[in-house]
Amino acid sequence: MDRSIIVVKLGGTEGLDYSSVCADAALLIQSGKRVILVHGGSAEANDLGTALGHPPKFITSPSGYTSRYTDQKTLDIFLMAVNGKVNTRLVEELQKLGVNAIGLSGLDGRLLEAARKETVQSIEGGKRRVIRDDYTGKIERVNSGLLQILIENAYVPVIAPLAISPAGEALNVDADRAAAMVAAGLEAEILILLTAVPGLMSCYPDESTLIRSLPQNRLPEALEAAQGRMKKKILGAEEALKGGVRKVVIADGRVKQPIQQALLGEGTVIQ
Ligand code: ADP
Repeated sequence: MDRSIIVVKLGGTEGLDYSSVCADAALLIQSGKRVILVHGGSAEANDLGTALGHPPKFITSPSGYTSRYTDQKTLDIFLMAVNGKVNTRLVEELQKLGVNAIGLSGLDGRLLEAARKETVQSIEGGKRRVIRDDYTGKIERVNSGLLQILIENAYVPVIAPLAISPAGEALNVDADRAAAMVAAGLEAEILILLTAVPGLMSCYPDESTLIRSLPQNRLPEALEAAQGRMKKKILGAEEALKGGVRKVVIADGRVKQPIQQALLGEGTVIQ
């Protein structure tokens, strides 16, 4: 039996078909594959924040990375929406399909340990601002032993993108990079980043410019050229490949059988 590990990240923006992803994951798991899901939840977190009168704020760093400004209240909203609703709904969907899914965030069993960013720099109206009350982090360690115990006992981990600081604080982390660190920690065969576009495009949003194959040594160039949130996927791909993952695919999560399509090489294949 093929015991290699497939790590699938489900994007958090609108458009992804979570039911198709779960049905596809269930088929693969039932045929003997080992699958781990990592998910985002930005659309849910944005909606809840807006409903609670605390709409999201995004900051752009001097090097062009966009991230959610996460003060304590935003962190609470993020916990409720992402670890609460999105994670539980995914576990529910998989359980309905006969998959013994187990929901975890990076805090559980210190699954994802991250260094809290002491200060975050943001560019606003051309000016640089230093933010000190931000609860985001960069993952430094994955408790892969915990994941091994779960998968060896036929549980399917579903991981929410929260991490724990050395002091035990909850931190918001980027889901693409969390998935990359999980895949590297387990030396997964493949990391599939499902999103609401067909893959990385050289001239976004022109889909005819989809990059079908990208060698690892061209990632720095791709990182330079990509805008906003796509940058984090490229960084994640780089981290995963450096960590021993054989292949990363940025693929369309809106299609039927999105995981199998990505395994067949649809999307941007990076190796
Ligand atoms: P997710 O929630 O799936 O992680 P993000 O919204 O964070 O997705 O990132 C994917 C988005 O990046 C795409 O939906 C697209 O709007 C944007 N994007 C920016 N540059 C590119 C590019 N060169 N190719 C494809 N998508 C790009």
